Amino acid sequence: TTSVLWFRRDLRLGDHPALLAAIAGADEVLPLFVLDPSLLHEGTPRADRLLASLAALSASTDGALVLHRGDPREVVPAVAAEVGAGEVHVSRETTPYGRRRDEAVAAALEGSGRRLVPTGTPYAVGPGRLLNQAGAPYKVFTPFARAWRAHGRPAPAPTPDSVRWRRGVPSEALPPTTGDPATDAGEAAALARWTAYVQGGLTDYATERDRPDLDTTSRMSVALKYGEIHPRTMLADIAAHSAGRLRATETYVNELVWREFYADVLWHHPESAWHDLRPELSRLPYDDGPETEARIDAWREGRTGFPIVDAGMRQLLAEGWMHNRVRMITASFLTKDLHVWWPVGARHFLAHLLDGDLASNNHGWQWVAGTGTDASPYFRVFNPVTQGRKFDPDGDYVRRWVPELRHLPGAAAHEPWKHAKGHDAGYPAPIVDHDVERREALARYETARR
Ligand code: FAD
Repeated sequence: TTSVLWFRRDLRLGDHPALLAAIAGADEVLPLFVLDPSLLHEGTPRADRLLASLAALSASTDGALVLHRGDPREVVPAVAAEVGAGEVHVSRETTPYGRRRDEAVAAALEGSGRRLVPTGTPYAVGPGRLLNQAGAPYKVFTPFARAWRAHGRPAPAPTPDSVRWRRGVPSEALPPTTGDPATDAGEAAALARWTAYVQGGLTDYATERDRPDLDTTSRMSVALKYGEIHPRTMLADIAAHSAGRLRATETYVNELVWREFYADVLWHHPESAWHDLRPELSRLPYDDGPETEARIDAWREGRTGFPIVDAGMRQLLAEGWMHNRVRMITASFLTKDLHVWWPVGARHFLAHLLDGDLASNNHGWQWVAGTGTDASPYFRVFNPVTQGRKFDPDGDYVRRWVPELRHLPGAAAHEPWKHAKGHDAGYPAPIVDHDVERREALARYETARR
């Protein structure tokens, strides 16, 4: 007998409960990935990164991985019928689109007497599992994190010694990547990066994580997005290596809990992906029109005249990644200095971030905009200059991404307008006056709250 293992956000073989379930239920396992045109935007760095991960997964299944392009509602039942599989195993999907799609696939399979069998999720504690004492979902991070910790940490699932893959099933070829293929994709690369980090950089995480110039965070977000590693594995490694540096490891675990919290919020409130979570703020007025459009373009391209904002936006375009502190600063700039509704920025981030994740991204945006659960207080408006001076104290991050400012030494790079040769190399003057826009943002929030 054959079972199908349909891979999605779980592109690995280790610590993979759905793989173990697929093995337990049949003699052979057919590994399948569906290139769903509604998710895959070919020709983009994101698509290239996924294809690189699939190439690694295909190699670790000794080439047995079957790929098909199309609507999973049609492809999955057709492949299951072709190999005579009674069960299609998956890691449970928790996003709104993934849940709808899986329901439809399950219904289509049932029509021919087959089953979709979900086991595990991409999270250590599955979204929807934790409820407060009143039986309601958590709305605030701290009590959620308390409940999450009390819930305990499941041990990683054992890696199977060997898997009998079903072979000889026709497959489409992996589409070629358009850019340079990523060299850090796949399970082995994710584990290597993670092992090196746990043994090294993690020690300074609590003290240095806010410093974009030092680049000392783990950069595990892309591997987590594709499930090249499971957070369970990471938590177990942290527990095994935390001796003597509890503060760093606790701080790191806390960030992983934010990822779980946002997935839980999305599970309970699928509409929160694109709508303000706090209804009282949905009356906030936003700017539009040609002048605002031009400013949004300047923000997207890193031409706002605020060095730390521009450095971050250029890092996003160049690397498909941005440091967390700078994600907050650039998001605050769009929403509070340019008075633009956060989904405009969330969409741009999702289009370019290799780690782009609906729950973490869109709730991260709502946090900054002040419209989310657990939002930063609405009156918190990041000052791009003080933020820059504080978290990039020597200006190194700015000079790395904004070559026009390389002639300015140290922290002077954060305030080119203060220096005689500040704008010499063609760097633009600030497109807005931060103090004016800050007052304007506060006035709008006050009015909306009334
Ligand atoms: P580390 O600091 O090493 O953190 C370890 C892991 O913890 C990360 O890989 C991530 O999985 C998780 N994590 C850390 N911070 C957060 C957070 N604030 N919220 C949720 N999870 C977190 N993260 C994404 O994975 N995808 C996104 O699309 C995304 N968009 C964001 C948009 C905005 C406006 C903001 C403010 C934050 C966003 N984040 C997003 C969260 C965070 O910025 C990234 O997870 C982090 O920068 C990734 O780098 P790292 O792996 O080196 O992080």
